[in-house]
Order: sequence, then C-alpha cells, then structure tokens
Amino acid sequence: MTTQCLPVGEESLRKAAELFRQGQVVAFPTETVYGLGADALNADAVRAIFEAKERPADNPLIVHVAKREQLEGLCQVTETAQKLMDAFWPGPLTMLLMKTSRVPDITTAGLPSVAVRCPNHPAAQALLLECALPIAAPSANRSGRPSPTSAAHVFEDMQGRIPLILDGGACQVGVESTVVDLTGDVPCVLRPGAITAEDIAAVAGACTVASSVMRPLKEGEHAPSPGMKHRHYAPKAKMTVFIGSDEAVAKEIIARYDAADSAAILAHDSALPLYGTRRVFSLGDTPQEGAHLLFQRLREMDELGVSLILAQGWEAQGKALAVMNRMARAAAFDLVNVSSQDS
Ligand code: AMP
Ligand code: MG
Repeated sequence: MTTQCLPVGEESLRKAAELFRQGQVVAFPTETVYGLGADALNADAVRAIFEAKERPADNPLIVHVAKREQLEGLCQVTETAQKLMDAFWPGPLTMLLMKTSRVPDITTAGLPSVAVRCPNHPAAQALLLECALPIAAPSANRSGRPSPTSAAHVFEDMQGRIPLILDGGACQVGVESTVVDLTGDVPCVLRPGAITAEDIAAVAGACTVASSVMRPLKEGEHAPSPGMKHRHYAPKAKMTVFIGSDEAVAKEIIARYDAADSAAILAHDSALPLYGTRRVFSLGDTPQEGAHLLFQRLREMDELGVSLILAQGWEAQGKALAVMNRMARAAAFDLVNVSSQDS
C-alpha cells in the first residue's frame, strides 16, 4: 500500500472522511499527539488499526467525537462526566464511561467501559464533523515506539501500512490526553496529561491518581488501565532520569556521560551551558515545554544511535506529572533523585 501524506485542507479532509466511511485507517493531528483513526463502531475497521500499529489486542482504544451528542447510545454519561465535559471539552481529557452494546468489544478490548474524548484541534474537529462517525484512535506510532508529534514521525512508523496521513504540523501538547476513570465513586486518573488531577478535582469535587502512574506494576498486580502493562514510549537506548537542581543533576550526568561510549543528554534550557561541548539537547524550561519536546527528542536520540540517554526531569507532581510519567516509562523507571543522594 502507498501511504499518501497530504496537508490538512478541504479536499484532504473530504478524502479522509470518505476513507473512514469505507472502513479504512487514516492518521490525523490532534492537540496531544497524532491519532490513527477508524470507524469506532466497525469491528473490521478497528481491527485494521490494531494490525497497522501491531498493538496488543488487550489494549483498548479511545473513541473521538466532534461533540458530546455523538455519544448518545454509546455510553452512560454521568453527571460528573457532564461537568467535566462543560469544563474541559473540547480538550485533552479522556473519560472512561460504561459502554453500551453498540460499541464493539474489539474497540474496548472486551472491557465494559469505553474511553471517550473530544479533541480540540481544528483539523480533528473538522474531520470528525465531516465523517459524522465516532472515530477510534490510538496514538499513530507502532506499539512500543514514542508517540508521534509530527506527520513525519507517523510516516516513519506507518509507511506502507495505511492509505493516508493528514499533515497538520507539530502537536501543541506533545503527550497523550489525561485518562480519567469515571466508573467508580471518585474520579481516578489512570494516565496523567495536560489536564491535571487538581484541575479535575476543582470541577468534580475530588480526584485520585492511580498509584501505578509513577512506578512499575508489581508481579501479578491488576493494571487499572491495560496500557500500563505494555512497554511504552521507549527509545532504543537505555535511559536514566535525574531530578534535582541544575548543578547537582549536571554533576551526576557529566560523570556518567564521560564514562560512557555514546551518550546524549536531555536537559532544561537553564542547564545547557553547564554541559560544555557534550552532546546535549533541550527539553525547554517548563514541564509543558518538556512534554511538547520529549517524544521528538526520543526519536532524535534513536536516529543518532546513542546507547545511553541521560535526562533531567522535574518533580513528579502537578503539571509535571504528565511528562514525568512518560520519562519514567521511557527509562523503565530508572529515576535518580540527586538532592536526596546528597543528604
Ligand atoms: P492511546 O490510544 O495510545 O492513547 O492509549 C489509550 C490509553 O487509554 C491506554 O493506556 C489504554 O489502556 C487506556 N484505555 C482506553 N480504554 C480504556 C478502558 N476502557 N479502560 C481502561 N483503560 C483504557
Ligand atoms: Mg499510545
């Protein structure tokens, strides 16, 4: 199959919508990362997503809609869900709600709940309106690779596997949506994103965060979200993440860098001068900038063929939890707190 890559425009959006109606798979931009979409209610179309991504069949997909009316008959929209939709939709918030039998089991990997989101990206909105279908769309990377934040990343992973990629430039947020489970008594964040647990609690009254967000699952532990079980966001190189002041982190990173064969450094802008002529790349200066740049940097590291990535992180809380969850997983939870080492 040849994979066309077309800039977002009236004609390419019409073409993408037509492919969706035919049960085909199309990649499209959202504000978080690029999605790999197909008709969420067509089991064969959804199967084609799993095949193109080589995604394990036990990892469910998020269903995207242009407006909440499209959810009618698909899931039970609770009062809390209504409030959160009022506050955060369209936007990077995915909610787990109890599904109806109209949603095929393959879309939810056999789970009784369905993940739903309304993206806030003009191309995604236009496409969802044009096709008038709920669209199942995981991130448009091959399973295990960093999520794509540009059409070029999607092309790297999906060339020859799907008919069309819509190119809408770089994704603004850069990490996937917040996933909040609304099927229990208290909302629970299963995957942190740009909308924080604090943001959700301010609207819903309370919100917890799954404890497995910042640690590996224990042997035999139930995964509240199947995505937690799988290797994810992984660069080819071994990666370690350091947290602490610019100076303390740089001291530790430089020692390891100088002892390694082919390492590269990811550091905050404020710390870049500390690394001299070593191979160092920027993660910006805020957790949001870090989120925007992280997946792109991990792909760049893979291209350079480095065997070790030494990265400066942030304290894993509040707005930094989203980027730190991805950094921790990319590093297989190899995190070093430099300030606590000193004491
Ligand atoms: P992605 O499609 O790559 O953005 O990943 C979607 C994430 O949402 C994965 O971590 C899934 O495991 C999670 N997810 C989707 N649907 C459900 C569901 N019904 N229950 C629990 N987690 C879900
Ligand atoms: Mg993904």
